[in-house]
Amino acid sequence: MSSAEKIAAADLANLSVVRYPDPRLREVCTPLEVVDEAVGVLAERMLEVMFADRGVGLAAAQVGVTVRLLVASPSFDEGDRIVLVNPRIVAEDGWEEMEEGCLSFPQIFCKIKRRKIVTIEALDLAGQPIREDLEGFAARVVQHEMDHLDGRLLVDRMGQLAKLAHRQALKQLEADFVGG
Ligand SMILES: [Zn+2]
Repeated sequence: MSSAEKIAAADLANLSVVRYPDPRLREVCTPLEVVDEAVGVLAERMLEVMFADRGVGLAAAQVGVTVRLLVASPSFDEGDRIVLVNPRIVAEDGWEEMEEGCLSFPQIFCKIKRRKIVTIEALDLAGQPIREDLEGFAARVVQHEMDHLDGRLLVDRMGQLAKLAHRQALKQLEADFVGG
């Protein structure tokens, strides 16, 4: 399916966050071929879902639309909105370990090591190329959401100890999942 077909197939008025182990979270997402009005509507709906669920970032795969689009608000301020279409990391520097959560893994928080500084190239909602230098928490949020674009999840970044510590919570999510 093309990105446009995936967006057209989505019920944009009723998006909700899909949880681990939904198989859509494991897909390598499709690049957006065009940045049109439908992409803008999807991004707007994703921001609404993200703020409503008290998240600071959300990838389209997390609402079941497996395209390379992410939204974020590292300060959790309605005025602070990052929307990235087809983002890629073009430079990175340093490492930092911090506690991190994910709307698709409710109640699970664990320390994850990520790049401290990243430079991102992407398209904005006007289809124009943008370049952003991000540091600290903002860099972390965008790296986390970019993981989702490749089907990579919090559980893949956890160390053995964290996996053990969260074994029950992970099992519960697996038991709660009604898939298909
Ligand atoms: Zn996540």
